[in-house]
Amino acid sequence: NQPSLTVPDSPLEINELGNSFNDLLNVQNQRLEREKQFVSDSSHELRTPIAAIRGNISLIKRRGDKHPEVIPESLDFIDEESLRMQKLIENLLHLSRADKADVELSEVNLSETIKQLSDHYQASIPQNINVSIEPDLVINGNLDLIQQITIALLDNASKYSPKNGHIDVNVSKDNDNINLSIADNGMGIPDDKKDKIFQRFYRVDESHSTQIKGSGLGLAIVAKLVILNNAQIIVSDNKPNGSIFTVTFKKA
Ligand code: ADP
Repeated sequence: NQPSLTVPDSPLEINELGNSFNDLLNVQNQRLEREKQFVSDSSHELRTPIAAIRGNISLIKRRGDKHPEVIPESLDFIDEESLRMQKLIENLLHLSRADKADVELSEVNLSETIKQLSDHYQASIPQNINVSIEPDLVINGNLDLIQQITIALLDNASKYSPKNGHIDVNVSKDNDNINLSIADNGMGIPDDKKDKIFQRFYRVDESHSTQIKGSGLGLAIVAKLVILNNAQIIVSDNKPNGSIFTVTFKKA
């Protein structure tokens, strides 16, 4: 028995085959381009704190003897920038590590988890956290990752809203879904930026956010962790101002 080969036997079929091959190549090229962009963005982001650190070391070396008063300020700066670099590297590792194969899902009492986290988190931010949580809502997910998602969203809610504002944390049931929402009354996110904020390194209006420190990786990580929990995330406007991030989990 001869092995049978599927050979395209009409020009139309050859054409179609060519097209699907091109599509495949395009997808691969786009992926490669995205990866290249990622490496170049990461290098750029790391280069900035390194330059700042080296500049300050050089300042101490040149002027430290005669002007010791420059030393404490430079050391603070070096400390701050190296911390920024450390956080960035941790985030990059999170992004590259998170892999579906490693994630174990089990029953998680979302109500309890979010209640405890919010109480604990309250101590570290100036805004008031109001919680509204239906008791004992259980989902299928990964506890560590859910905590990580929640902390990242709380970090942002606090960073991008006024110190005297409040953050509303809500856990509720909706048919077969359980929603976790975190709402702030801060600067909000324009409609045409709502998709982009989940892209790696994207920050809305750099000029506005330069005062607010960040790398633009937080939500890219959140988006990845949400998928690993078989969940979904959307962002909407809070009235009269601010944003609401809603994570939708499947009920266990
Ligand atoms: P980072 O905060 O490090 O810049 P993120 O990936 O967490 O990065 O967020 C991306 C961008 O989305 C932020 O730079 C900010 O412009 C915008 N953003 C995120 N969360 C909020 C929020 N709660 N309110 C307003 N803008 C937000």
